[in-house]
Amino acid sequence: MANLTRDFFIGLSNNKILNKHAKKWGFRLGAEKFVAGTNIESVTEIVKELNQEGISATLDNLGEFVADKSEATMAKDDIIQILDIIHHENLDCHISLKLTQLGLDIDIEFCIENMKEILDKASEYDIFINIDMEKYIHYEKTLDVLHTVLKEYSNVGTVIQSYLYRVAEDLEQLKDVRIRLVKGAYKESEAVAYQSKDDIDRNFIEMAKKRLLKDTFTSIATHDHHIINELKQFIEGNKISRDNFEFQMLYGFRTEMHYSLKEEGYNFCTYIPFGDDWFGYFMRRLAERPQNMNLILKDVLYT
Ligand code: FAD
Repeated sequence: MANLTRDFFIGLSNNKILNKHAKKWGFRLGAEKFVAGTNIESVTEIVKELNQEGISATLDNLGEFVADKSEATMAKDDIIQILDIIHHENLDCHISLKLTQLGLDIDIEFCIENMKEILDKASEYDIFINIDMEKYIHYEKTLDVLHTVLKEYSNVGTVIQSYLYRVAEDLEQLKDVRIRLVKGAYKESEAVAYQSKDDIDRNFIEMAKKRLLKDTFTSIATHDHHIINELKQFIEGNKISRDNFEFQMLYGFRTEMHYSLKEEGYNFCTYIPFGDDWFGYFMRRLAERPQNMNLILKDVLYT
């Protein structure tokens, strides 16, 4: 049953027509619990509040299924404008972006040019750019773009998904690159990915421990308190410097833990998605945690 529900929401998240129409609806179905706002101005205030508590942020100007170059150029220009704001407002904040937003599916060279323009500005301001990892069909191309831009820039990294069998090798290749470790949010086939929670969790813990023993910075991105507790013990037991890693969670999820981890002295970063392209992101969050369905019911009943 859990798998059916997950497949249902993942199916919705990939529905291009619904994604397109949802942009015109404004937030619906309780999405505002997990998507911070529709414009950068409102989100800037949220980042400032988090920064005051010692929590950093990563901003994701939501966008996917970009099918023409003008849309990708607009997304790139928006990200550069956000970099200006982060710099001028002196925010403790970096950027998370998806390469399909910048034209990966249209033309990889065009996507690389967009990334370079973003990285030029980000380097000028000393701001880190994280390339989010999408569905496996984009995986090789995403790593190709990353390796291309790494020849010229050092303020860029990506995400490793512990549900993929291959990640131990990829992590070895990326041993000098800042990485966010996640379980993986998409539906992938048995040919490339573990299907059971136990295997995915085991691989997450194994990869996290490997990374924590290295000097390169790692973002441990999970809401799973079992994993966080096990890693906390590992960190203390191995006297791992807290400057070497941070915990990351998504905006709106387990907010009390964002603050408690910070209070315990760990670096913490909140991932803040915003913008009108909220539908796919929100459906993936429902796929992960069908309990969030009650938000939809409340929205339908009370609005
Ligand atoms: P789950 O496996 O969903 O949950 C494990 C256990 O934790 C649950 O059984 C429950 O006991 C507890 N738990 C979890 N959530 C809650 C809650 N809200 N309230 C109470 N208990 C809870 N995926 C990608 O594929 N690409 C990306 O680029 C990407 N970036 C991400 C960035 C961040 C900052 C985060 C946090 C996630 C990202 N993801 C990304 C999503 C990720 O892959 C997972 O799909 C998602 O985080 C769900 O897995 P989990 O590790 O949080 O724990």
